[in-house]
Amino acid sequence: MGTALVTGASAGLGLEFAWQLATARHDVVLVARDEGRLTRLAAQLEAAAGIRAEVLAADLTDRADVERVAARLRDDERPVGLLVNNAGMGLNQPFVDGDVAAEERALDLMVRAPMVLSHAAAGAMKRRGRGAILNVGSVAGLTASGTYSAHKAWVRVFTEALAVELKGTGVTATVVAPGFTHTEFHERGRIDTAHYPSVAWLDAEDVVAGALADVRRGVVLSTPSLRYKAVSTILKLVPRSAVRTFSGYRRALADDAPDVPTVDA
Ligand code: NAP
Repeated sequence: MGTALVTGASAGLGLEFAWQLATARHDVVLVARDEGRLTRLAAQLEAAAGIRAEVLAADLTDRADVERVAARLRDDERPVGLLVNNAGMGLNQPFVDGDVAAEERALDLMVRAPMVLSHAAAGAMKRRGRGAILNVGSVAGLTASGTYSAHKAWVRVFTEALAVELKGTGVTATVVAPGFTHTEFHERGRIDTAHYPSVAWLDAEDVVAGALADVRRGVVLSTPSLRYKAVSTILKLVPRSAVRTFSGYRRALADDAPDVPTVDA
């Protein structure tokens, strides 16, 4: 896969992607807003794994910043063999009474940026006849829990369509759909996780290892852990009315607690 570019590499799953890819001897390009964190990580990765780590600080809600990352992906002098569209956030608000500018930022980060970066990467990889794109979705993409579910459903369908279009080109597209995973996600989004059972939680290490194994095998839909494979199967089999009832029940739980959003995972 050669060099890997990881968005959201300063924390959580992205940080874990960076470590596992570096340990597997891939050079990495680290993208996120927090340049200090990325620079410290790059030094640690280079020292521990003997690879080259490049820092590309960017706010992926900013069109000019997204274009800088896209230009890096199109650079044939320094080919990127794996793009991991991972950066994301939880929105701590209901849609109707919430701030629509915040909704636009979330859409830009979790839909527009992966779309533009996938376009840049897929074009360059297709020319070279090899490469892989890994998009981070969520099991929430199968539920009806706020616009976050809609963004992650888009990521899933988009990735499947990309996989169809790229068939036979040597380039693969994979979407990984984690369940609740211990990262900074819930704390940053001020999401109360008190009512989540401990059995629901996954470790970032296992999620990332599962996703990268599926990328290497060319799997399109990746769901790490047996628990969430079962949850996903149930969500696909039951009537959508039942999924909406479940999503509404979770929303009611959220409404009972202060500062708890309707979206998570
Ligand atoms: P996290 O620990 O909060 O990390 C989020 C990463 O995204 C950080 O590196 C952050 O870096 C970056 N980011 C946020 N806003 C950004 C922006 N505007 N521009 C560039 N980078 C930005 O969350 P995580 O759990 O690892 O989330 C990673 C992905 O997994 C997301 O797509 C999320 O939706 C998905 N996911 C998470 C869970 C879960 O339970 N944790 C479950 C399913 C799916 P900076 O702040 O430095 O920019």
